[in-house]
Amino acid sequence: MARNIGPVCKLCRREGMKLYLKGSRCMTPKCAFEKRGYAPGQHGQTSQFRRGRASDFALQLREKQKVKRIYGILERQFRRYFRDALRRRGLTGANLLIMLESRLDNVVYRLGFADSRAQARQLVQHGHFTLNGRRTTIPSALVKPGDVIAVREGSRKRSYFKAVRETLDERGIPKWLSLNPDQLSGHILSLPTREDIDPTIREQLIVEFYSR
Ligand code: SF4
Repeated sequence: MARNIGPVCKLCRREGMKLYLKGSRCMTPKCAFEKRGYAPGQHGQTSQFRRGRASDFALQLREKQKVKRIYGILERQFRRYFRDALRRRGLTGANLLIMLESRLDNVVYRLGFADSRAQARQLVQHGHFTLNGRRTTIPSALVKPGDVIAVREGSRKRSYFKAVRETLDERGIPKWLSLNPDQLSGHILSLPTREDIDPTIREQLIVEFYSR
């Protein structure tokens, strides 16, 4: 499954905001965006002063790229999500975000089993989780209400998950999920709604981008 393997901090600098792609490092002074909050590349520092008002197309493109990068998805798969979102009832933009939020790797991240979505994706691919009792290695699997996600029996003894268990009580989780820290498992109470997802995302711009 394709994924971006380039330097991720450049993505934050390109989008002009922190996308929190590196977990706890993003909260420290080591964050590259804190040190160099301008676009990457030779002209990154000067280009922001020369730029005039961004065109509608530029705004739509940046919003689409930002969301792709937050969820760690490449163009072809993102387009597929958009087409699926179009077919569903309701607002296309909200449908798109709800689908992205329902991905198994995102749920593992939201439950606090991983520090970032990239790490969650790797943990799933390495077979550390079960979905409704069955081992799964597909990070893009979409969860539904009633599903149970758990750390696989054989993985619970690993030092990584023992350390994760210690931090679970302090982490907040979204209201559409419930967590059982002792069992290292989570339960999908309902699908997320638009209100449960980052309010700063302007999904209408993404719909406009693909509707050109
Ligand atoms: Fe972005 Fe995190 Fe890198 Fe900072 S440390 S630039 S927030 S990925």
